[in-house]
Amino acid sequence: MQGFFSKLREGLSRFMNGRYGCDHLGMAIASLAIVCSIIASIGGWPWLSIAATVLIVVSMVRVLSRDIASRRRENDSFLALVAKPRSFFHRQKSKWENRSTKAYVRCPYCHAEFALPKGKGKLRATCPKCGQKSEHTV
Ligand SMILES: [Zn+2]
Repeated sequence: MQGFFSKLREGLSRFMNGRYGCDHLGMAIASLAIVCSIIASIGGWPWLSIAATVLIVVSMVRVLSRDIASRRRENDSFLALVAKPRSFFHRQKSKWENRSTKAYVRCPYCHAEFALPKGKGKLRATCPKCGQKSEHTV
């Protein structure tokens, strides 16, 4: 049985050699396809089911593509497009994880948000963006 799986792994590895594989854009397209498929089955919309199938086919074509430079360019464009929302969610996650040790305050001059150690009382802080000093109670 182990011989079968190692042969399967070798065969798949040989098949994928020189092909692009999976990336962020591919995962996003596949995720969108799954969401479309679920909504289509709930709403009973066959056209959305067709759209999901098309998205899956596009995702598979990208995975199996040998034009690695073009796929990489597409992925880079996608990552540049979603950089701001991703950064926002990353910041929210970081704030949530550090909520017991850090207090997040806003600069009264430029409204930039920055972190201060929590539970230290009244602190005088220098804004990392504009350099103005302000007092915060944390
Ligand atoms: Zn500021």
